[in-house]
Amino acid sequence: MMPLPQACRALLATALGLAGRYRLLCHHAPLAARLCSGAGGKVEAAGSGEASGVLRHLLLKLRATGPVTVAEYMREALTNPGQGYYTRRGGVGEDFITSPEISQIFGELIGIWYISEWMAMGKQNAFQLVELGPGTGTLTDDILRVFSQLASLLSKCDVSIRLVEVSPKLSAIQAEMLTGGKVQSNPENKSAYMKGISKTGIPIYWYRDIQDVPQGYSFYLAHEFLDALPIHKFQRTEKGWREVLVDIDPEVPDQLRFVLSPSRTPATENFIQPEETRDHVEVCPEAGVLIQRLACRIEKDGGAALIADYGHDGTKTDTFRGFRNHKLHDVLKAPGTADLTADVDFSYLRKMAEGRTATLGPIKQREFLKNMGIDLRLQVLLQNSRDSATREQLLHSFDMLMNPKKMGDCFHFFALLPHHRVVRPTKKDNPQSKSPLPPVAGFGELSLK
Ligand code: SAH
Repeated sequence: MMPLPQACRALLATALGLAGRYRLLCHHAPLAARLCSGAGGKVEAAGSGEASGVLRHLLLKLRATGPVTVAEYMREALTNPGQGYYTRRGGVGEDFITSPEISQIFGELIGIWYISEWMAMGKQNAFQLVELGPGTGTLTDDILRVFSQLASLLSKCDVSIRLVEVSPKLSAIQAEMLTGGKVQSNPENKSAYMKGISKTGIPIYWYRDIQDVPQGYSFYLAHEFLDALPIHKFQRTEKGWREVLVDIDPEVPDQLRFVLSPSRTPATENFIQPEETRDHVEVCPEAGVLIQRLACRIEKDGGAALIADYGHDGTKTDTFRGFRNHKLHDVLKAPGTADLTADVDFSYLRKMAEGRTATLGPIKQREFLKNMGIDLRLQVLLQNSRDSATREQLLHSFDMLMNPKKMGDCFHFFALLPHHRVVRPTKKDNPQSKSPLPPVAGFGELSLK
């Protein structure tokens, strides 16, 4: 395992050694994360009864125009402006639980990662931290606490937070968490739909789309975001590749079913690689476009992106699944009332960044957090906590994040960095080249692909 880079070790000692505040968890400990169980686990019998708003809308559409792609179905179910799951319900804590909600250490170590990269890349005098899909805002809140503990380091740096969130419900929860609810809607700055100031005095802006976020030197963060973006599904048949579509079941009223496209679709032409060996493939083009956008921005303006999610390296097949009340839920039942998700294909993301930025990872969550010094932080919090219930809670949440059978092995970290951050020009090309580059915190072996 790679030792912590020097700068990172010093940061840890300053930020994490001093601060012993423990964020009290009011709930959740026994609840389930959206672990990478793959499709096909025990599925909760969905409440039938009245068709949900999304289902009614889909039934009308399917009757009028025929089957839709799984991507279109997923987009309607999750982000339909009036009835979508994220638009109305929110999900985090209610139907599934994520790492930042489990332990404050998670966000703190990510905060250290950004400061460490900001230092390694020359301490620019301004940066924006852009979080995609911030959920309840907990992760940003924990990162901001680290920034405030390292205020002396950042004193000459102009920091702003840019949140990309489609859900009005969740953006209100984020505003409450980060600003105490003191926000201004539709500020003069037209591209942002909301603006506020964090409890630590940092400006925060909300956007609906990454393209609305101003260009400039930025650090990007996507935690359990890409798994919520719509996927296309494909099945190999004797007649060649066919796309999986969603249609009305003719046997049961108001019920949906999967069907195969009778012939190839534009998506089968565009997304299946000739060398593909699997029989079933999921592709998330929105994730691909997003990675291309981030890579272009990083290439042009500098910065880095850290992506953390459950996923695989182009090996898994059917991972589409639903969650409701912390249980697996039939993906075709009551759309809009359950979270829908699919594993992230990191090999696809790597291909999308190709040429523009270097990529690191995917590396398992337990390795990344260990490399970032999670053991040290746990010890500090344990020493500073007086009661045994708190200590037990700390150990329990540490186990949840790190245990290979829980979140340790199936969640991964993946980064986009400018080429110059991971490869120094050879001595021959640049005779002035001195010491080796500081390693990127958190990642073991550096791989430039
Ligand atoms: N990152 C948080 C929440 C993950 S849930 C955590 O780890 O706890 C997914 C988040 O992405 C939610 O905030 C959801 O509203 C948001 N989201 C989903 N699809 C989106 C889209 N297309 N554009 C912007 N935000 C989206």
